[in-house]
Amino acid sequence: MSDAGAAETLFERIIAGEIPADVVYQDDSTFAFRDINPQARVHVLVVPRKRYRNVGELAEGDPELLSRVLLTARKVAEIEGIAESGYRVVFNTDADAGQTVFHVHAHVLGGEQLGLFGK
Ligand code: 5GP
Repeated sequence: MSDAGAAETLFERIIAGEIPADVVYQDDSTFAFRDINPQARVHVLVVPRKRYRNVGELAEGDPELLSRVLLTARKVAEIEGIAESGYRVVFNTDADAGQTVFHVHAHVLGGEQLGLFGK
């Protein structure tokens, strides 16, 4: 189920243009913009316009939209010139993973050799 009834999130305000962001790509269902605190040379967030809390909720509620988020991640990698060199797509889910914005988003990271997973 979508989270549409809950309070507006930061990312909805960014999508609405109420908070400025460095937009990399957008289409009718997804929105991609640079992370304000980049963890790699390329660090872009891909957000579905329709809000779900996390990737599991999105997968269950609208698998087609999840697919669109992943296709936008690939599109971002192409735009940023890292589709060939490689990139990482991360969905933080809830507290232990450090999710801070409860509007599902894919982190697209690359542009350099990335470290291993973990802490
Ligand atoms: P999470 O920790 O929920 O997986 O990721 C949230 C991300 O949003 C963080 O990487 C954080 O740097 C980014 N972020 C937080 N506030 C803003 C903002 O106002 N603008 C942009 N562009 N990114 C933000």
